[in-house]
Amino acid sequence: MSQSQGRPLRLSHADIVRWRAQLLVTGTCHVWMGAVGSDGYGRIAIRNPEDGPRTLTPHQVGARLGYGPIPAGATVLHDCEVRLCCRAEPGHLRVGTQSENMRQAVARGRAVGPYPGRVDVRGKAGASRAIQAALRAVTDRSPAALAAVLASVIAEGDPLRDLHPLFDLPDQHTASVSGVAAFPGAGAPGGVLVRAGRRGPVESLPLFGG
Ligand SMILES: [Zn+2]
Repeated sequence: MSQSQGRPLRLSHADIVRWRAQLLVTGTCHVWMGAVGSDGYGRIAIRNPEDGPRTLTPHQVGARLGYGPIPAGATVLHDCEVRLCCRAEPGHLRVGTQSENMRQAVARGRAVGPYPGRVDVRGKAGASRAIQAALRAVTDRSPAALAAVLASVIAEGDPLRDLHPLFDLPDQHTASVSGVAAFPGAGAPGGVLVRAGRRGPVESLPLFGG
């Protein structure tokens, strides 16, 4: 659905007005609030007399308006990973090639969520609908508040969100390993141990107190 499919993409003024009316501008992404397909991308029906009725994704419309005509065979990519985002600015929408799209998908393990390699627990369409529902429910309509809600509803789909690490991270122990433990006996009063042939800081430790 992201591809231009080699057919002309002409937008009427009425199309653009309808597109803009269904866009919610948050402090980060510009989120499509209209129809959503099973792939999690938005859908907008374009009706112009020259090309006939046609269904597009709203992010294609956003890219066309922000970046100019989309080259044949090119794909509109989401760098922000929010499939409903229609913001034609760096960090959000980017026009790339189909092969680039495939490489990106492989690199991300076909992720649908905002985190590379992780699949949103709600599925593609479920994640998009959850985003729309949450944004509709926000009482504070400021861009900053909407962006905060967007970020939290995205985080709710992270499959690792409710998992707690079983073990302490190894780097939490590096301080003691390179510190006290590196000086045998340094932490044990009266028990200084100096190994034969040992070089380094151990040799500078006092053998006897006083
Ligand atoms: Zn975005």
